Amino acid sequence: MGYAMERVKSRRAIIVGGSLGGLFAANLLRKIGWEVHVFESAGKELASRGAGIATHQELLTVVNGLGITIDESIGIRVGSKLCYDSAGNMVHQVPADRIMSAWSRFYRPMRELIPDTHYRFAMPATGFKQDADGVTVFFQNGEEMSANLLIAADGLRSTIRQQLMPYVQPHYAGYVAWRGQVDEKELPEALHRELFDYQTFCLPEGEMMITNPMPGANDDVRPGFRRYNFVWYHPVDGDRGLPDLCTDATGHCHGTSIAHALIRPDVIENIKDVAHRLLAPQIAKAFCLSPRFFFQPIFDLESPRLVEGRVVLLGDAAFVVRPHVGMGVAKAALDAQCLADALVFHKNDWVRALGQYEQARLTFGQRAVARGRWLGAHLEAQNKPRSMRTKEELHQYPEVVAREVGKQIKEIPELAELVQ
Ligand SMILES: Cc1cc2nc3c(=O)[nH]c(=O)nc-3n(C[C@H](O)[C@H](O)[C@H](O)COP(=O)(O)OP(=O)(O)OC[C@H]3O[C@@H](n4cnc5c(N)ncnc54)[C@H](O)[C@@H]3O)c2cc1C
Repeated sequence: MGYAMERVKSRRAIIVGGSLGGLFAANLLRKIGWEVHVFESAGKELASRGAGIATHQELLTVVNGLGITIDESIGIRVGSKLCYDSAGNMVHQVPADRIMSAWSRFYRPMRELIPDTHYRFAMPATGFKQDADGVTVFFQNGEEMSANLLIAADGLRSTIRQQLMPYVQPHYAGYVAWRGQVDEKELPEALHRELFDYQTFCLPEGEMMITNPMPGANDDVRPGFRRYNFVWYHPVDGDRGLPDLCTDATGHCHGTSIAHALIRPDVIENIKDVAHRLLAPQIAKAFCLSPRFFFQPIFDLESPRLVEGRVVLLGDAAFVVRPHVGMGVAKAALDAQCLADALVFHKNDWVRALGQYEQARLTFGQRAVARGRWLGAHLEAQNKPRSMRTKEELHQYPEVVAREVGKQIKEIPELAELVQ
């Protein structure tokens, strides 16, 4: 029978998507007294998503506000950014003060705060309907649930957004991020000494490789148990190159992404060859030590509205910012904080609260997306003839990239003024 027949409590929210955006919203709304139910389509705990993430002070502040301890164990502090050329010479160095953490380091403690009865796996939402009395969400297994608010935190391909605004589609940026990680114990001593403590950049024309230390298995930050993380933005045309990368050994094309275990061996061999041809030798060597490689096509997405009645878009369901800004998780945290603050400010008058949320987060999202496009312009332009590229698209200056990529929110004037 599901929950539809129950009387809807006056402050019940359904959250579709149980990744970081959904968990920020769930925890912050619970904190202000809402009954929250999270529905995640994946069949099991997501903590094994091993991605490294750069942090922002604003993100740590939101997490701290949930009572989660923020100390040195949150990640690894990086004190310098180094740029290498293709020959392996260090061509630029700037100070940095950045904590490199792991996706799971945020997921685990926030997930632990939600009782299992209120966080359900293997529950893909298929759609919703709303009227003056509430909103009802439908799930693939036939269940349904009603609430006062529906928060769509279901990411880039949001089912909820597609029902609301089918015309809003992700834009493929023309490049993918190849990713790899190496346990620090597996790095030869000389490579460890040269690279491990730094965020490094290698910028051959049309490429952007970024490396950094990150926590190891179970978010371990003890020396000897950490990992080295690689994110390599590499142009791949969307018409033929991307479908080919996403085609498995049986000839089946999986669309615009493919599970790492299904990537063809020839694709992996090829990217290792390209690494040795294009990247600084020490960085290519370290990258090729990764026991497993995968890639993520880079998209961006802008929603023209974030609210429709009782439905709210949040995190990547609302805006997808290219990862050069290093801010997707922080943006999701700030979205959720803004929503919770607006509900408190308007004493749970959700119409006014959602209006305030939309106004604030639309501007932030638009500016963040624009910044991501600016930082990725050089990479995106690789799919155009050289003669058609602007000056900005032709050159990628190490000092600009090292300064601007992953900058703290408070150092980006157009965003800083929105998070006072
Ligand atoms: C290469 C790369 C590097 C990045 N680096 C950084 C970084 O350093 N720092 C940073 O802050 N950000 C980074 N990001 C961005 C960051 O990963 C995202 O912005 C962030 O994960 C968004 O979280 P989310 O919860 O909104 O969406 P997602 O993490 O995409 O989660 C959406 C969830 O919804 C679930 N779902 C989808 N459809 C349904 C449905 N119908 N029903 C139920 N559940 C559903 C999915 O299974 C998923 O768990 C990076 C991204 C990329 C691609």
